[in-house]
Parts: sequence; C-alpha cells; structure tokens
Amino acid sequence: ATSIVWLRRDLRLADNPALEFAASHADTVIPLFIWDLDEEGGWSPGEASRWWLHHSLTALDDSLAERGSKLVIRSGNPHEIIADLVDSTGAALVTWNRRYEPAAIEQDRRIKEALKSAGCEVRSFNGSLLREPWEIETGQGEPYKVFTPFWKSLRANLGDVEPYAAPDTVPAPESWPDSMQVDDLNLLPAINWDADFHDAWTPGEAGAQQRLDEFLASRMANYDEMRDRPDRAGTSELSAHLHFGEITPRQIYAEVNHSNLNGRTRKSADVFLSEVGWREFAHHLLYHFPETTDQPLREQFERFPWGNSESALQAWQKGQTGYPIVDAGMRQLWAIGWMHNRVRMIVGSFLTKDLLQPWQQGSKWFWDTLVDADLANNTLGWQWVAGCGADASPFFRVFNPVLQGEKFDPDGEYVRRWVPELADLPNKWIHKPWAASDQVLADAGVTLGETYPEPIVDHSEARKAALAAYNEFKGG
Ligand code: FAD
Repeated sequence: ATSIVWLRRDLRLADNPALEFAASHADTVIPLFIWDLDEEGGWSPGEASRWWLHHSLTALDDSLAERGSKLVIRSGNPHEIIADLVDSTGAALVTWNRRYEPAAIEQDRRIKEALKSAGCEVRSFNGSLLREPWEIETGQGEPYKVFTPFWKSLRANLGDVEPYAAPDTVPAPESWPDSMQVDDLNLLPAINWDADFHDAWTPGEAGAQQRLDEFLASRMANYDEMRDRPDRAGTSELSAHLHFGEITPRQIYAEVNHSNLNGRTRKSADVFLSEVGWREFAHHLLYHFPETTDQPLREQFERFPWGNSESALQAWQKGQTGYPIVDAGMRQLWAIGWMHNRVRMIVGSFLTKDLLQPWQQGSKWFWDTLVDADLANNTLGWQWVAGCGADASPFFRVFNPVLQGEKFDPDGEYVRRWVPELADLPNKWIHKPWAASDQVLADAGVTLGETYPEPIVDHSEARKAALAAYNEFKGG
C-alpha cells in the first residue's frame, strides 16, 4: 500500500514518528509539503520565517534524495490537495505530526474526518513536544498557569526518552505525483535584506544537529551563568531549528542526558532543559488558552490604557530609541532574524512600559522579523513581558535599560557590535551616551541627535507614567 506523510513543522527524518509509522506500515511513502497561506488564522509565516523555510525545505529534499526519495511540494488548500493526492495515488494511509496552533488544530480535525469517511486510515503523532499539552494537569484536573509545578510534573512523568534514528531508506513509489520546486514557492525576499542571515544560520536537520553538538561540547557547562549575557555566545541558538522541527526536544533531552555530566554540568544542563521546558509550557498554554495570541490571558488587561504612537513604534522597530541596549537588540533582530532572550525582555519592557505601546504590536513585529517566530513561544514571551500572562513578570516591574545593559553587557561589546556609531565610546558611557560630556562624545565621534538619537523618552519619567497608568487601571 501507499502512504502519504504530510510534513509541516517536522522538517527532518530522524525522530519523526509520522514518517517512522508510514515507512513501517506501507510499501511506499510519499513525503508531502503544502504551502498554504489561508489556513494559518492570520499567522502565516513572516518574512524571516519564509527565508528559513525555503532553506529548510531544500535541505529536507536533499536528504530525502540521499534515501531514494523526494519531497512532493504543492501550494494551496491542504484539504483539497491531500484528498486529490489520495485519489490519484490510491494511498491507504495518511500520517502527520500534530501542530498546536488553534487554526491548525481545527484544520487537522476537518481533514482527518474527511479522509476517514472516505475510507483512508489517518494517524497523527506527537512529533514536537516532550509531552502533549493535555497530558499534564494539576491535581484539580486544570491546566497549569505556573511554570515550576508544570515542569516538575512533566519531568516526573517523562520516563525514558529514546528518539528514533533516521530511516536508511524511504521507499519510493513507482511514479511520483507532480511537484513544484522549492523556488516556485517564492519564499525568499524580493529585496536583498537577508545577506547576514546566511552567515548566521544553517537551516535544516544537519545544521540543527551541528548546533546541538557544538552546544553540548562547549557551551552547556556554563549555560547557567552565561545564558543572560548577550555579549557572549552562551545559549544554544536552536530556537528556529526547534520551531521548524529540524530537531526535537526528545533528541535534545536524550543527548543532554547521555553527555558526560558531573555535578557542576548537571546543574547547568538542568537549567538548559528547563528552558526547553518553557517551550513545553508555552504550547500547553496556547493549547488551553488559544485566544491569548491576541488577547491578554489576565482578562482585566483588556482595559489597560495602551497608547497609540506610530512614531514611537517605528523608532523602536528601527532601533532608534536612543537607548543603546534596546537599539542593539532591535538591530540584531533585523540583521540576523534573532535576538538574545535577555534583550528580548529588555526591548519588550521598553515597548510596553517606557513607550506604553500594546504588546500585540511587539508580537506582530517579532512575528515578521524572527527566524524562530513561534506562535506559542512568542505569545508567552510578550504576555510575560507585558505582565498580563501566566506566571508573568508583574506589570510594575519595569526594566531599566541602562542598568540592564551595564549588568548583562558590562563591556558594551554587544552594543558596539550592533550600534557601531557608538563603538568608540568608553565603557562608562556606552549604555548612556546622553550622560557623557561634550568632550567625551566629540572624542568618540558621537553627536547626539545627528549620528545617534537622543533618548525618545526619559526612562525615569516614562517609568512613573507607566506606573501611574497601571495604578489607575487597577483602581478603575
Ligand atoms: P536557549 O537558551 O538555548 O534555550 C533552548 C530552547 O528552549 C530555545 O531554543 C527555545 O526553544 C526554548 N526556550 C528558551 N527560552 C524560552 C522561553 N522564554 N519561552 C519559550 N521557549 C524558550 N522563542 C521562540 O522560539 N520563538 C519566539 O517567537 C519567541 N518570542 C519571544 C518573545 C519575547 C518577548 C520573549 C521575551 C521571548 C521570546 N522567545 C521566543 C523565547 C526566547 O527568547 C527564545 O526561545 C530564545 O532566545 C532562543 O534562543 P536559544 O535557542 O539560544 O535559547
């Protein structure tokens, strides 16, 4: 019999339960990818994600070719395309790994129903989480809203994790159905803004595995101390690989635990695994509270008096706020489609508190510019920053961009890299150029308001205004 494996956010061959099942239950396997913009519930992939997807699909097609197979690529409505393909190939089995975005859940349900009533066997699997979002619940049978007990419960129930190896061959059909080429999907940008992406990333399963190997060999031992330092390459940089399913949390979990861990590295490894746990938590929340992609989880925040300033939003987006750590982060994001987590928190706090702009504006900008844009993680991140989510930082905790910069980028290396017009400022002033004397600025070739902006708001004034808005909203 023929089977179809519908690949989505699982662009890999190893540890792929849908592929594993199809290959072991059917004589031939047709790997299928469908590009479809209409069915993402308003969250179709942004520009940076499309860049990644293009290269990831190319890599997947290449590794399928090495196994005597190929990727069949179509564009359009998945419902119709799958039904059509089942008809034309006589496939008796369709498999996929589950997605957790609200629109995808609804679509999968409809497709499954239709295929089953047409007599086709359909199997879906957990291919991207350690545990399904509905498997973890509180003693009262409720979803968790606090991370620590969630993660404790998940780990306690995890058992042995043994990922599948990649199949040696993927049995091909005698004749292949029609397919587009990856290029036909037009995923690459029309104007050339992606130059730096190529140096920063290697999309695809092999690139993901290489990142993990490097991380385990050199970064993991100090992860707990280095993970907050944007000036050091201290984190795994696996987020986009995880989003596109080029590697799984099961593979990460197993490889971390198989690596040589002594007391010190065990502790650091646990901190790293708990970050992977935040990804699980984000999916748990998105599954149980699907409306939170646009609405605050804590409903009272719907009444929060957010501002509406196009110029403030643009200054933030372009990295022209006059706060070096904020601008460095926003420019890193634009240049390579990724920003360090500590800096995501700083720029998020700045947008929602110093500038009082709605967090949804931030999440939309990130959606378009991040290579790792992920509906679950991005929603959790922004609700956390704005103080309206589960287990969030309270609204009244306003990050001070100068102190954050001095603490986490102590030598200003991160700022110098991404805001080169400040590169010659001494460390003492690198996070607060407006406080330097005219002489210091002149020596560094900086003219505020010309070569680099004056701060668009005064942080201590902005903080007071944010707290006043919060108190009024709380009382009202
Ligand atoms: P590591 O520190 O090496 O962590 C390993 C993995 O754990 C990551 O790859 C990621 O999959 C997961 N992870 C780590 N931190 C978090 C977290 N706080 N929440 C959820 N998962 C986490 N992450 C995304 O993948 N996509 C997003 O769209 C996204 N948007 C964010 C928006 C805001 C405002 C904030 C504050 C955070 C956001 N994050 C997002 C979470 C986090 O910043 C990134 O996952 C992390 O910076 C990726 O770098 P890394 O792979 O080196 O992380």
